[in-house]
Amino acid sequence: MTMRRFPISTLSILLALPAALAAQGVTKAFTGATLIDGTDRAPVANATILVRDGRVVSAGPASQVTIPAGAERVSLAGKTVIPGLVNAHGHVNVPADLNTYAAYGVTTVYSLGGEPPSVFAARASQDTPSLDRARVFVSGPVLTPITPEEARTMVAGVAAEKVDMVKIRVDDNLGTTAKMTPEVYRAVIDEAQKRGLRVATHLFYLNDAKLLLEAGTDFVAHSVRDLPVDDALIAALKRRNVCVSPTLMREVSTFVYEGTPAWMSDPLFLAHANTEWITQGKDPVRQEALRNSTAAQRYKVALGVASVNLKRLSDAGVGIAMGTDTGPQGRFQGYFELMELELMVKAGLTPRQVLHAATRDAAKCMKIDAHVGTLESGKWADFVVLDADPLVDISNVRGIASVWIAGNRVAR
Ligand SMILES: [Zn+2]
Repeated sequence: MTMRRFPISTLSILLALPAALAAQGVTKAFTGATLIDGTDRAPVANATILVRDGRVVSAGPASQVTIPAGAERVSLAGKTVIPGLVNAHGHVNVPADLNTYAAYGVTTVYSLGGEPPSVFAARASQDTPSLDRARVFVSGPVLTPITPEEARTMVAGVAAEKVDMVKIRVDDNLGTTAKMTPEVYRAVIDEAQKRGLRVATHLFYLNDAKLLLEAGTDFVAHSVRDLPVDDALIAALKRRNVCVSPTLMREVSTFVYEGTPAWMSDPLFLAHANTEWITQGKDPVRQEALRNSTAAQRYKVALGVASVNLKRLSDAGVGIAMGTDTGPQGRFQGYFELMELELMVKAGLTPRQVLHAATRDAAKCMKIDAHVGTLESGKWADFVVLDADPLVDISNVRGIASVWIAGNRVAR
């Protein structure tokens, strides 16, 4: 059916050419920056990053990378380059969110639920050297089946939609709602695995985390927040090679609008923030309600538990994938990722560990590391140019000089 039986005129081929092809054959050389490539390699001073057709050809010391004649040169002298940030747990509501994430250096977002068809379409069109917004991966509707039969039907449904991962929610919202039973999530996981799909799980409680790991979940999309993680959980995570996404900013978002946070007047925040959410966040009536909300105050405590658990899991060698759960109201995409990195350092991780969690390790955990996560030959040239070294102070991720996706400068 797809065979072309008739000759197509040159003109019609040219008209049909996607804009993408215009970027093909273009070679760019980014010179002079200190390169933190996301691997274990020490930072490289005066590096050259050679990019062709949107992908890294080579990245290393200027003395070792030959710039071909005719390459377009971009001087990044005095700057520091890091791989684009990979958010392992965000939510993309509309394709424009991908510009917002990119503006803050988040060049890949694994969206764990709720994407409309337009975001599926964005995913389908992103393997192009002309890309200049964040890449996205999708989960479709978050599944909350009631019976095992319904579980299997729902998994078949999202499999037909060609999701990248299945997302389930195993939580009782601090004891206020019914929680998915083990019988049901076992059916979800079994059905997903039969179809070659991985399952990401929203959870809250230590005991649920253990049962879900036993059932075969592939990704823990939030911190355990009720109790300290224990040796049994750590052993199960490591044995099954399952990563955890701390999403500390998710907890912050539940109580931070009990007042007006200082960062709401940060020009970097204001540059791309959802103005409706700002108005809601500053609403005195809502702020008063949050101050009196038992749930908000309990999530504040949960943030402390999550932070201690992050350090413990990291020390034990469990895979940590930076995630934020941004996208729902009041969870500002892009800016919250930068704050997440700061909270991870505050929890006790080193800036290097945090950068790894937000680049190479997040990509590995989500199984997209063949294409993103480090600046190595063959991967997409997605990177952030910073004014100062984030290994010295993680807050230097806020000093963004420019963002590049597939070697294209992001408008911001
Ligand atoms: Zn989420």
